[in-house]
Amino acid sequence: MPVTYLKGVGPARAEALRRLGVTTAGDLLYHIPHRYEDASTISPIARLEVGMQGTVIGRVISKGVLPTRKGLRVFQAVLKDDSGMIEVGWPGQPYLDRTIEKGDVLLVSGAVRFFHGRQLQPREFVNLGDDDTGTAQGRVLAVYPATEGLSFKVIRGIIDAHLEGLLPLVTEYLPADVLRSARVPAIRDALRMVHRPTSMAEAMEGRSRLAYEELLFVQLLQQRAKSLARTGRLGIRFENRRDLTTKLREALPFTLTGAQVRVLREIFGDMCGEQRMQRLLQGDVGSGKTIVAVFAALLAMENGYQAAIMAPTELLAEQHFQSISRLLAPLAIEPILLTGSIKPKARREIASRLAEARPSLVVGTHALVQESSQFSRLGLAVVDEQHRFGVEQRKALSAKGESPDVLLMSATPIPRSLALTLYGDLDLSLLDERPPGRQPITTALRPESTRDRVLEFVVREVAKGRQAYVVYPVIEESEKTDLKAATTMFELLSAGAFRELRTALLHGRLPSDEKDALMRRFRDGDIDVLIATTVIEVGIDVPNATVMLVEHPERFGLSQLHQLRGRVGRGGEQSWCVLLGDVSPITRQRLEIFAGTEDGFEIARADLDLRGMGDLFGERQSGVPTFRVADPLRDEQLNVLARDAAVRMLEKDPDLEAPEHAPLKRVMGERYARSLELFRVG
Ligand code: ADP
Ligand code: MG
Repeated sequence: MPVTYLKGVGPARAEALRRLGVTTAGDLLYHIPHRYEDASTISPIARLEVGMQGTVIGRVISKGVLPTRKGLRVFQAVLKDDSGMIEVGWPGQPYLDRTIEKGDVLLVSGAVRFFHGRQLQPREFVNLGDDDTGTAQGRVLAVYPATEGLSFKVIRGIIDAHLEGLLPLVTEYLPADVLRSARVPAIRDALRMVHRPTSMAEAMEGRSRLAYEELLFVQLLQQRAKSLARTGRLGIRFENRRDLTTKLREALPFTLTGAQVRVLREIFGDMCGEQRMQRLLQGDVGSGKTIVAVFAALLAMENGYQAAIMAPTELLAEQHFQSISRLLAPLAIEPILLTGSIKPKARREIASRLAEARPSLVVGTHALVQESSQFSRLGLAVVDEQHRFGVEQRKALSAKGESPDVLLMSATPIPRSLALTLYGDLDLSLLDERPPGRQPITTALRPESTRDRVLEFVVREVAKGRQAYVVYPVIEESEKTDLKAATTMFELLSAGAFRELRTALLHGRLPSDEKDALMRRFRDGDIDVLIATTVIEVGIDVPNATVMLVEHPERFGLSQLHQLRGRVGRGGEQSWCVLLGDVSPITRQRLEIFAGTEDGFEIARADLDLRGMGDLFGERQSGVPTFRVADPLRDEQLNVLARDAAVRMLEKDPDLEAPEHAPLKRVMGERYARSLELFRVG
């Protein structure tokens, strides 16, 4: 029933609840706290000491907005409890003045600093309204996602009033054996536990059930998609003739790593099987994905088919073309390059070559998927840096020819459990070993006070004949932040420390042909220092570049820093990654994790742990429903259980038609109406 039928919910509150996605009484039950404050950890204000982290509850006895010298406005409040008073300051959040009233009771946790006396720097806070301090103490306080005009306190009140009435109306929808195997509580218990826990442990137990069911639903959808894709997709059955592939193996200047051999076995297994390959190859920067793609291409070619490798930029396509040409020279195979800037005449020639049913290997950009590019016998489609393509472009390539095998490649290493959730409908291969003989890159954190020395170091490296990148988080300066920006720093550096050097500015607002032209000049050694934003992140290979200098490292995710660092250390020379700037102690810890390892998976995991999943899911294009409670990374164990349960259920009941699955199917339908189409097809 609509929430408006509930006592205490009038039109205004109903409207605010709707903004939170709550329109029915059922939604309200599933509007679960996004965090808890454990009141047993609250300390008296008088006990807070400079340097420590603490949580306090106090009443606002005065407040106001103060300007600072930098023009930033700070909301300040003085909190008082029975033991004493402390000042709390929220820089850059003057709007809090409208929501926090004198007399309100706040729960605040954060670090205690010295700033004209003790000051609490809030990491987070909860406005308990005019609650009397006593009530929040002695139990776990549930904090709900709130919205303008509807405080978490009011939400808590509404839930308090109706929880007991609504719970008996909830019936279990997960099969009993599934619940048992996951060892999570039944739904009614779980909902009570998350809304009104008597301890943190209980709250977490309730949460685990809700996380599990989300993971289970997603796994059911993914597994279903996977099996539909399987049955409907007979592919080409290649034969491993050991002709071209063996020749390449013999001609290679190095031996394949164990991981490359394993991954190739997986890929060849797919290609020689009768189903169509849909495989994702994950491997850190420099793990040697290209050669894997080339072997796969040769398998297609020795069977008389064509193969295509698609890269996200012209520059990358050219780079692949050159390195693949070198690799295949001993076999007397010349790949074809197809990009947007190939002249019409050459393009027509390429078109006629592709129209012949002769084996060939084409390397290119999305020009490959344009209508004019017709393949007569495309047997393998490889998409490099697949996350840079839209779903449409990836599909367009695999739609060329008659169901070619598809290999997607990605340099964003994410933990397997997460990959299985995001890409559950693909098979996964992992290149988790680096080719030997790589020089380690020295990574250093340097404070602002060493700026001159760091810049001199860059100048010295250039004097030795090397090249450098300097990266900034933003293109232009703005009033809201005081970040150094690529554009201004380009001017400053070109006129200052780097005035003797050839510098250039590269950022994402340049048209892509200009970007490519600049990168080409850098690659050809016509530019010494490239001052840039993160546009240089992807796959570019300039072995002569030995310095990656990153300013405002605090503004980058660790995985992003890892991609940036991967731009150097590609030649035989010692390389450096320097993170320049004064950072907070917390950021410093984070950056030290990065400085301490070159293992992309380790970094990705640390990054996700620190940042949360938000960014990842924000960007994804895989069509996975967003998680509200679950976190596939933190809930790795639950995710594994959920996947196993999903596979078991679908084995017995592929369409989820059995009566015992009806309640589950109904709930899934409510949550993921569109995805549920998968179960209607069969
Ligand atoms: P990425 O996985 O980032 O695309 P590449 O395929 O560009 O990596 O490979 C990086 C470099 O490592 C290339 O110069 C390639 O020739 C080299 N390489 C690949 N495999 C091996 C190997 N088994 N032994 C030595 N070098 C290798
Ligand atoms: Mg690559």
